[in-house]
Amino acid sequence: MIRCLLLGVVTTFLIGCNNSEPLNVEEVSYKAAYDFKSKQAFAVDQSVQLPAVNPENPQSKLQSALYCTQCKKWYPAPPLEELNRNPGSAKCPKNGGQLSLEGPLPEHIIVFSEISE
Ligand SMILES: [Zn+2]
Repeated sequence: MIRCLLLGVVTTFLIGCNNSEPLNVEEVSYKAAYDFKSKQAFAVDQSVQLPAVNPENPQSKLQSALYCTQCKKWYPAPPLEELNRNPGSAKCPKNGGQLSLEGPLPEHIIVFSEISE
């Protein structure tokens, strides 16, 4: 019985590892991040954990960004916990439109030299 359980766990683990490979090669490897000091959006590597200190401006922080298709602008995303608790909190501060995770990525790419995996 226990052996069966263990085998199940190991199998799940192996499958989980395989799934971590990006399934879709077309997938963009960057995501948008919002810089508080400059009030601008930048593109950062998908693997970067946000919020994070902006390596190009250590005084400032980068946070996840959400896109408003009406303003055509990126806005700072509410904390994930808040999003989970209250999905309506992802609203555009200007016109109340629904914010989207997807949008045209900012041209400026911030490179994180030390990415801890
Ligand atoms: Zn808007």
